[in-house]
Amino acid sequence: MKSKLTLFAFLLPPLAALYWETSFAAVTHKAHEHGAGKLNLIVEGNKLTAQFEIPSESIYGFEHEPHNAAEKQQRTAGGEKLKSKIAEMIVLDSKLNCKFKLTQLNLHAEEADETESTPITKGITKTHSKSSADHSETHAEFVAECSSPLAGTKVHFGFSKFFPEIREVNVQVLSGEKQLGIDVKNNKGEVSL
Ligand SMILES: [Zn+2]
Repeated sequence: MKSKLTLFAFLLPPLAALYWETSFAAVTHKAHEHGAGKLNLIVEGNKLTAQFEIPSESIYGFEHEPHNAAEKQQRTAGGEKLKSKIAEMIVLDSKLNCKFKLTQLNLHAEEADETESTPITKGITKTHSKSSADHSETHAEFVAECSSPLAGTKVHFGFSKFFPEIREVNVQVLSGEKQLGIDVKNNKGEVSL
């Protein structure tokens, strides 16, 4: 009995990684919709993990591999903007003194495939098949370290202030026992962590 439990605990992946994978698996049945993103907010004490995925068109205006230097520059700029504005897009209570750090960024992630049933693995950087050549997504993960626990605090949003093409973001919160989701349309709405 004891050894079984130990083994189970050992096999259990970190919460954030598990949530990331299962949430991607859940959307694999549907092709992406331009302007519509997904955001997972995972609260663990003073730490928030934010996983954001959005069709790349909303971040840098196109979804193919850059054809020239100008497009390459445009893509890089989109990524930089996302990185620098995240605290104004995911607006946490200022009393928490949270500091966001980018932990993963893929500006050309493969679009969720309709026929694919296995979860997309974490940290895809180069995989891109011909079947989704016309579409790609931007996947970013941020970790915010705060001075006090996040549970119970409110979050509001400012995605389209910086990326006007983002119309709607489905926000999923995982905080202790609590799990909830809301659709944030044009930055409207707030969610309690
Ligand atoms: Zn697309």
